[in-house]
Amino acid sequence: MAQTIAAISTAPMKSALGIIRISGDDALSVAERVFCGRLSQSPREMVTGKFLSQTGDTLDFGMAVYFKGPKSFTGEDSVEFFCHGSTAVLSAVLSSLFKAGAHPAKPGEFSERAFLNGKIDLTQAEAIIDLIDSDCELAAKNAAEQMNGAMGREISSISDSLTAIAAEFYAYVDYPDDDIPETERDELCKSLALCAQKAKGLSGTYERGKLLRDGVKVALVGRPNVGKSSLLNAILGTDRSIVTDIEGTTRDTVEESFSINSLTLHLIDTAGLREAEGEPERLGIERSRRAIDSSDLVIAVFDGSVPLDSYDREILSIAEKKRSICVINKNDLGCVLSADNFSPLPTVVLSAKENKGTDELLALICKTVGASDIPCDGRTVTNPRHASTLMRAHDAIVSAAEGFKNGTYPDLCVTDIENAINILGEITGNCAQDVIISEIFSRFCVGK
Ligand code: GDP
Repeated sequence: MAQTIAAISTAPMKSALGIIRISGDDALSVAERVFCGRLSQSPREMVTGKFLSQTGDTLDFGMAVYFKGPKSFTGEDSVEFFCHGSTAVLSAVLSSLFKAGAHPAKPGEFSERAFLNGKIDLTQAEAIIDLIDSDCELAAKNAAEQMNGAMGREISSISDSLTAIAAEFYAYVDYPDDDIPETERDELCKSLALCAQKAKGLSGTYERGKLLRDGVKVALVGRPNVGKSSLLNAILGTDRSIVTDIEGTTRDTVEESFSINSLTLHLIDTAGLREAEGEPERLGIERSRRAIDSSDLVIAVFDGSVPLDSYDREILSIAEKKRSICVINKNDLGCVLSADNFSPLPTVVLSAKENKGTDELLALICKTVGASDIPCDGRTVTNPRHASTLMRAHDAIVSAAEGFKNGTYPDLCVTDIENAINILGEITGNCAQDVIISEIFSRFCVGK
């Protein structure tokens, strides 16, 4: 018996429309106590009507749709109300629903019910959060494909192969006196190696998947007056869309976020920060070092019109240890520096002041982080839980394969293979512990 729950699914702000969701065994009867319209006669069709308080006052005029379970998002009888997007109206309609018998939904409870009723697997549920949180087109595209089951299918294809391999092993467990023929042994080892490789390969996509989901952290560093602020302005001053202005987590850096090629870049900007009294150079280098440490990509800026000094060299030596691009700025003044000074790091010569060369820099940034060719077909892992769990599955498969090669009894190999299948089940939710499931859904917002 599924208790009937209700919640506002849209953001708590003034807007044209606001949506309320209701789900559970009594969804229709509860909804009909609030919505005056022909709901039950027309499942899956929008019907117009009015929303009433439990004392009969009209709260709003709008539309509603009834989904008869199991053909609904949650798999249960569900109703969605489309009201006007006034927080007062939505609260009043919701409170009328509670008086009519609905209970407040917990964060993620609609999605959790969809998962528990087998409408979606855990990867699809997690992709819903990713889709809602995505702030660039590529991340949204990948999340949408995962919501459509792309990641679940990848994981299942590995577990299905493992299940088939385990079945072959069982044959030898049942007849321990039979020797496994050499060709058969080779085949089994090859099949296990292929599964291990697939799991590792999929987990490896997280390195770039992380950039999709979280954006690319770019540190802009260099000694004072080389033109960092000017470069930042030149980059942002073009038609890039500025996503947010976030105060950095450390008080002496500022993050500007913007997108290029549909990928979000968070520029950790040490520009414009006043040098502290006392030991300016040491403090400046320290600040750059911190920005560099926390970044995915470094843009080290140098004043091309003068030779490198010790401050520049220190910045360069830190940048050399990370994925970096060097910028020789102030090209308009005539350059005494060239790409040779920074070889083998990729280098762009430009003039921030005249805004010449910034497009080349942006193209190089995209190329360096591999932004243009991150696959967004849902098979790029963007979730750290999936990446680490895949590696655990990989290790269990490798353990089965190595044990088998070294003469371990088939029944022990089967245990490792079953272990790997169960680990993969943690990703799709087939074998996930309740505590993991609750933790995942608690990260959802109410109404989702
Ligand atoms: P920051 O301290 O590294 O952020 O450097 P700023 O961006 O504040 O620039 C320091 C000085 O260099 C300012 O006077 C800028 O106008 C000048 N500047 C920056 N970029 C260029 C450039 O490409 N060419 C020339 N000629 N001057 C530049």
